[in-house]
Amino acid sequence: MEKRIIFATGNEGKMREIRMILEDLGVPVLSMKEAGISADIEENGKSFAENAAIKAKAIMEMTGEIVMADDSGLEIDYLDGAPGIYSARFMGEDTSYDIKNKALIDKLAGVPDEKRTARFVCAIACALPDGQILESRGTMEGIIGYEIKGENGFGYDPIFYLPECGCTSAEISPEKKNELSHRGKALRAMKEKLEKYL
Ligand code: IMP
Repeated sequence: MEKRIIFATGNEGKMREIRMILEDLGVPVLSMKEAGISADIEENGKSFAENAAIKAKAIMEMTGEIVMADDSGLEIDYLDGAPGIYSARFMGEDTSYDIKNKALIDKLAGVPDEKRTARFVCAIACALPDGQILESRGTMEGIIGYEIKGENGFGYDPIFYLPECGCTSAEISPEKKNELSHRGKALRAMKEKLEKYL
């Protein structure tokens, strides 16, 4: 069978970002849906890296193909790294990000700039059919803002202020976000690692 990469996500927005970065590998990159796979894998790891590896390994074992998976989230230093690996589940999976973002701003009420440091983290795992797992990680540093700002991006972007841009990560273009983001960095690092196995 022709070599291809399955990316274990159901998020079409993420798939667009992923394809843009991985396209020059010269191997088709498919979402789970495009590969005709549906699976609900419990993310019960203790770190972003563990969760990414759990997902990649499980789908590789189902398909026997090259499978990549990511796990990402927001770490706020003042909250001891929360919401961290629970970023999607924070206040409930179905709660709107408007509500989640307002709650985080409230938790940091009165906290000065220098203590509002935070980062987006992305871990990527790639499970190869021979059982090897390749891993990469990327981060994007910023501070938690005082208000919700910007329409681009998703999730916690409207409260994530990027000092070097003078705005939030919801106010930069998708191209700029790919260049700076945790996911962009982790994907480019993974692309380099994977090249020699294709
Ligand atoms: P997952 O990796 O798709 O499970 O995403 C984990 C959580 O982190 C989600 O709640 C996202 O909102 C948040 N997150 C991950 N990356 C970003 C980002 O680039 N911007 C905003 N939120 C993000």
